[in-house]
Amino acid sequence: MTDSLVLDAYDLGGVDCPECGNSGMVTWVGEEGMLYSRTCRCMKKRIALRRIRRSGMSDLLRRYRFQSYRADTPEQEKILRLARRFAAEDEGWFYIFGQSGSGKSHICTAICGALIGRDRDVYYMPWRDESTTLKALVTDAAAYMKRMKLLKHAEILYIDDFLKGGDTDADIRLAYEILNYRYNDKALRTIVSSEMTPETLLRRDEALGGRIYERARGYILKAPPVNQRFER
Ligand SMILES: [Zn+2]
Repeated sequence: MTDSLVLDAYDLGGVDCPECGNSGMVTWVGEEGMLYSRTCRCMKKRIALRRIRRSGMSDLLRRYRFQSYRADTPEQEKILRLARRFAAEDEGWFYIFGQSGSGKSHICTAICGALIGRDRDVYYMPWRDESTTLKALVTDAAAYMKRMKLLKHAEILYIDDFLKGGDTDADIRLAYEILNYRYNDKALRTIVSSEMTPETLLRRDEALGGRIYERARGYILKAPPVNQRFER
């Protein structure tokens, strides 16, 4: 994850720019016959698109934005207001819990989209799939570490449906390894959606729950059940 302007071949897709002919560079000859070049204006857009692609959330980001989040109740208005504020800040974690269908993923995805718009790198971790893969890799140290490195070092990590599918000791160990690393580096931000209340998490594992409580202070939110009448 880098802000480098060096392009991969595929980074030149997605944006059609007549100014540089999609090379990313504009060149011209100066008065003295010298050849000059500069980065084309379209590169900013290309880098933003690369961030979206690398986040693994392209489809989600299109569907779930702040503008499309339904804030029909004071609770939902509060969630929206705090989520926008969180996305404008540069520190801290976000933890939202509630039952399936309560709009947790919507608000977390909208935060990720806003952060990508502020040139931050986001990495998406659907907990159930990724934790299953990781637990299966524990006997392959090199592969395990390579994958863990992404989750530990991501500037912004979004863990969707945290501990969905079980909270065995192996799950808790895995969660602790990732979140404790991130806890120790204040520049790393973590966004978590879960069906588990923070109280339950704290009872299940005090060290893990305590770290989330501390980092997400002010941003531990309960997503209210969705009123079916308002759906779609
Ligand atoms: Zn261009």
